[in-house]
Amino acid sequence: MPQLRQTWDNQQFFRGSDDPAIVTTIEQLQADIAKLEASCRIFSDLIATADRLPESDFPDLISKLKQIHGQEISILERLGNVRTFISSILSVDSQDAQANTWMPKLQQVGATLSQASTPLDVFLVRVSDGFITQLLAEPELEERSFSISHARRLKDQLLSVSEEKLITGLGVTGLQGWGNLYDDLAGSLKCEVEGETVGLAKAANLVSSANRETREAAWTAIRSAWSTREDSVASILNAINGWRLEETAQRSHIRELHYLDKSCHQSRIERETLNALMDQTYEHRSIGQRALKAMGDALKIKQMAPWDLFAPAPSAGGEEAAKSQTAIPFEDAIQLIAKAFSRLTPAMGDFAVMMAEKGWIDGAPTPNRTTGAYCTSFRSPREPRIFLTYEGTMNNVMTLAHELGHAWHNWVMRDLPMMKTWYSMTLAETASIFAETLVRDALLKEAKDPSQQLEIAWQNADSAAVFLLNIPARFEFEKRLVEARKQGYVIADKLKPMMAGSWQHWYEDSLSEYDDLFWASKLHFSIASLGFYNYPYLFGYLFSLGIYAQQEKYGIDFNNLYTELLRGTGSMTAEEVVMLHLQQDIRKPQFWQDSLMIVDDSVKQFEQLVAQQGARQTA
Ligand SMILES: [Zn+2]
Repeated sequence: MPQLRQTWDNQQFFRGSDDPAIVTTIEQLQADIAKLEASCRIFSDLIATADRLPESDFPDLISKLKQIHGQEISILERLGNVRTFISSILSVDSQDAQANTWMPKLQQVGATLSQASTPLDVFLVRVSDGFITQLLAEPELEERSFSISHARRLKDQLLSVSEEKLITGLGVTGLQGWGNLYDDLAGSLKCEVEGETVGLAKAANLVSSANRETREAAWTAIRSAWSTREDSVASILNAINGWRLEETAQRSHIRELHYLDKSCHQSRIERETLNALMDQTYEHRSIGQRALKAMGDALKIKQMAPWDLFAPAPSAGGEEAAKSQTAIPFEDAIQLIAKAFSRLTPAMGDFAVMMAEKGWIDGAPTPNRTTGAYCTSFRSPREPRIFLTYEGTMNNVMTLAHELGHAWHNWVMRDLPMMKTWYSMTLAETASIFAETLVRDALLKEAKDPSQQLEIAWQNADSAAVFLLNIPARFEFEKRLVEARKQGYVIADKLKPMMAGSWQHWYEDSLSEYDDLFWASKLHFSIASLGFYNYPYLFGYLFSLGIYAQQEKYGIDFNNLYTELLRGTGSMTAEEVVMLHLQQDIRKPQFWQDSLMIVDDSVKQFEQLVAQQGARQTA
């Protein structure tokens, strides 16, 4: 059997950040983008009359569009590859000097590309329905169908070609520069945990230590590291949100836009859906709070603290046994996940093993590693990659399962035309959380005794607490931040009570204190390209549980249904996908209530296991 690898190998693309082929690739891309820009220019003059073009002009324009489409796809493939390669280097070593100079360059190339196609993009939004129908009847252009119809929903907030280009152009060093600054800070900050100097990624793993003192020490260390930069992060948040508000104001020339409109469009959901999701979750927040309470009971902690939120399940032998508990080797984690995936379909299990055999996963700790975990992919050939910091904890195993779920989603779509594989985050998080659920369920079924069951059920309780409380608290904070930013600059000393208040709104008394520096330590708030980054996780969690629960109903047909649903995520809105495959309306509270009841059941099961454990120990 081939060896399982814990370090990725991307040498087939480039040899390293100093590979001269990167220079030639980027030069070629710039030349090709210039050609594309020239081809798209003619559409500038057509925009004013786009909705009343004579039909006799259609064939000529459509044949030009076919040519442009081919140019664009070729550029997107090569740009995607080099971008994925450079970010893969930076994830492993955020201080790689060469890669750090390439990153802004690539962001700039990306912006030039989007500027080059702006006249065409605006034209496609403004042109008549009749033209679009004829255009999409062309087989090689059909893959643009969803992206065109989705973009056309923004008709009333589009600006002129030159204004659109200006926003994109200024965004490179403006908006994106702030996001880059955050990444740089996160990669270089060091913290002092129990006498040892570690990077943030390592410290973040120590917050999930079995030892409560270590957890608290790591949590405190991360906080004090960030507190030295709190003014910088406050500047980042103010700049990013100020930018977005100004852009929203500029786009409100026909109708007053809400700051959540853009996010909903990016998430491909309606506001009604977002409202139903958040309202139902708030109404049922006690499920997450009960989960925390039971977790505290299991840990013999009166009230959970922020540093307990990532605590591992208490080991059957108590804390002493937990300390000596050996880490789960990477190879074992892959096998364990593969076995669980195979219950859905053997192909998914084989896929997990293949990812590690081919060196498509990077999990081995390195000194200047960035925090977090993600799944990305090369565009040509279509190959997924996973990044995480794997140190053998159960949390690491679940993160690996999560990212493998994303990778599987990419994999089942690999034969589709590129533009049909672009799905939104809301639907992306469905596949990943579904994969996590598969692993937890398999482990729960295999557990030999109640204490083992408790260890697994812990993961369910933990998810309930994270998704039903922590994620919504982040959403709440971001809403408050945007509202406050409308009034002016929000200093660090205002951000702290704002974060604490957002936690209080959701956690209430289920925590002993709130993490008021979370706005600095959580990278999600500083992602330049995407606002309201977090609710898609809650969406994905409840949505995937709802789908997971359909397994029994559909029996052996389920895997096909699930695969088709995943394959459809790049060409439909979330409402449409669910209506088509499951005949349910996610704008209605009922859909979310059903999923919340599934969480409620698993929290009840956990509460029982904790109570049984308590009874055993006092007996
Ligand atoms: Zn994910």
